[in-house]
Amino acid sequence: MKPERPFPAKRLGMALLLSTIAGGALIAQQNQRPGYTDTPLIPGSRWRVHDRDRPHPRVIDPGTPGTLDRPGKPPSDAIILFDGKDLAQWRADNGGPPGWKVEDGAMVVVGGKGSLVTREEFGDCQLHIEWAAPEPPRGSGQGRGNSGVLLFGRYEVQVLDSYDNPTYPDGQAAALYGQYPPLVNACRKPGEWQTYDILFTAPRFKDGKLERPGYITVLHNGVVVHNHTQILGSMAHRQAPSYQPHGPKGPLVLQDHGNPVRYRNIWIRELKDYDQP
Ligand code: MG
Repeated sequence: MKPERPFPAKRLGMALLLSTIAGGALIAQQNQRPGYTDTPLIPGSRWRVHDRDRPHPRVIDPGTPGTLDRPGKPPSDAIILFDGKDLAQWRADNGGPPGWKVEDGAMVVVGGKGSLVTREEFGDCQLHIEWAAPEPPRGSGQGRGNSGVLLFGRYEVQVLDSYDNPTYPDGQAAALYGQYPPLVNACRKPGEWQTYDILFTAPRFKDGKLERPGYITVLHNGVVVHNHTQILGSMAHRQAPSYQPHGPKGPLVLQDHGNPVRYRNIWIRELKDYDQP
C-alpha cells in the first residue's frame, strides 16, 4: 500500500476552500446583524436577550501596561492629563499658571506653589496616575511624601510615603483620607514608581440634597484597596466627613502638601453608558 502524504496538496486546497466559505459565511452573518428578535426583554432594559439591534461597543486600542521603569501606553480614548512633557492641562489652585516643575518626564510638587487643578472637569471616571515619594525620605508620619489625588477637588485618595512610616490608618497611602484605610498597605519604597487605578462614581445631588452617595474603587500597584466603597463626604482633617452639594462634573486636583512628590503618566476616561454619545 502506498503511504499517504501527511497533508496532500489536494486536501490543503479543499481545507482552504472550506475555510474561505466559512469566513465568507461569518462576514455575511455579521452583515445581517447576528442576534435575536424573539427573545424576552432583559428586566429593567429596553433590550432583548441577545438583541440583534443593540448597538455594539466602540472599538478602542487598549494601550499597553507599563513596567516599573517605563510608563505604559494609555487607551486610545483616554484624555491625557500629563504625558511627561508639559503642564498644559493644569492650572494652580489660585487660578494662575501651575508652579510645579517638569523634570525627567515627571511633574514634581514645588512646596508653596499650590495644588494643581485640571483645566477640564470630569464626572464618573476611570483615572490612572503614577507617583513616587521623595528619595531619600524626609520627615515622618503625615510629613513624609504627602500629596493627594482629589476627585472633584474634595474626595482624596491619599498620597503618602507609607513604606515603614506609621501614621493614622485613614491617612496612610491609598486611604480615603479621614474615612477608610486601604484594605492592605501595598506601598513601594520611596523613589519607586507606584500606580493608582481609580474607578469613581460621583455622588448625585437633587434640589441641594444628596440623592445618591459617591462610590470608589482603587487599585494601588494593581492591588484592590477599596472595592466599590461608599464615600461619606468631602475630605476633612480632624472632622467628620459630610457632603456639600456640587454639579455633575468637577476637576481633578493634585495636592501640594509641601513635599516634592513626583507624578507621571496621568490619564482619565469619562465613564458613561456604552451606547451614549
Ligand atoms: Mg494628602
